[in-house]
Amino acid sequence: MDFSSVLVTGGAGFIGSHLTERFINAGTRVRIIDNLQTGSVKNLADMDQTGLLEFVETDVIAPFHSETDLVVNLACAASPPRYQADPIHTIKTCVLGTLHAAEVARENKVRIVHSSTSEVYGDPLCHPQNEDYRGAVNIIGPRACYDEGKRAAEAVLFDCRRTYGLDIGVGRIFNTYGPRMDPYDGRVVSNFLRQALLGRPITIYGDGGQTRSFCYVDDLVDALWRLCLAPKEVTGPINLGNPNEMTILELAETIRELVGTKVQLVFSSMPVDDPKRRRPDISRAKAELGWEPCVELRDGLKRTLDYFDDIISSGKIDTYAPKDDYRTAVNG
Ligand code: NAD
Ligand code: UDP
Repeated sequence: MDFSSVLVTGGAGFIGSHLTERFINAGTRVRIIDNLQTGSVKNLADMDQTGLLEFVETDVIAPFHSETDLVVNLACAASPPRYQADPIHTIKTCVLGTLHAAEVARENKVRIVHSSTSEVYGDPLCHPQNEDYRGAVNIIGPRACYDEGKRAAEAVLFDCRRTYGLDIGVGRIFNTYGPRMDPYDGRVVSNFLRQALLGRPITIYGDGGQTRSFCYVDDLVDALWRLCLAPKEVTGPINLGNPNEMTILELAETIRELVGTKVQLVFSSMPVDDPKRRRPDISRAKAELGWEPCVELRDGLKRTLDYFDDIISSGKIDTYAPKDDYRTAVNG
């Protein structure tokens, strides 16, 4: 590995903490910049004693500076109820945060790896989605603060490459799940697992016929790792996700079966602009990163279930309960 220190924005979050752990296990010093909006220092507890981790609580919408050999830009709430709770802050995080992270990479003359998203494809008219598809985002809808923010962030990075020759790697992450997801963050896997384990009804939005393709976090982190180490020619965008597509109803049934519970399924209205189908074409990731996911959904869900079970049975769940009125607060 060419770097001894890495700057990770959003490193206290779900994906960021796993990637940080991977760097620390490789002996790399990690400085995390995070405002703890959706992340938690609890996610970093295991790494605290290594002497390799530095945590800085700050918001990326203001400029920041750091000496580093690599920048990884992950800062941004990823769950729809959370990024929609303060949309102006979300779009600032995506656009200004990426500009500021890119500036740090430019100052240090190092690579920046950025977490874009399948949401750049909006409610896609092309299936499965490959990187050449330009997407169908509702520019004025409630998801746009995130979708358009992430699209603009990609534009920022490709302009930095054309203007300054910045070394960039853009990964478009599809739905990822695993331990350290905040049980109240409102995403489907965390909602369903929390609800099933607490014996509460599982909340399905719409008729549950919409699809997603779920990637286990270890697979995703391996993809990001490869993108960090990739040569300058590997700019992306590259889809990073698991092509195993399923309906939300199938996910609910699988979770009920794994938890061994008979909790009810309750159906409510579909959120505005919720994409109907989503599956990544990962040919580019295979060709350019030599990567494809290998963790089966049931194995990944079981590992996530064990994590949630531990949080719930030890009473730690109370330290995660939302203090605001996110939609999840009424989901039980
Ligand atoms: P997360 O919400 O768990 O983590 C995001 C982290 O960023 C948190 O620690 C949060 O406190 C921090 N953050 C948010 N806004 C910030 C700001 N303005 N300044 C500083 N820190 C800020 O989400 P995640 O699932 O770990 O996602 C990480 C990245 O991956 C995000 O950029 C997200 O858009 C992207 N992504 C994730 C998924 C997924 O399924 N998990 C899918 C597509 C893209
Ligand atoms: N979803 C659901 N019940 C929930 C949470 C989400 O049916 O309690 C649905 C949501 O409407 C969407 C899918 O699950 O169709 C994935 O939602 P998530 O918020 O996890 O991610 P995204 O919509 O960003 O893919």
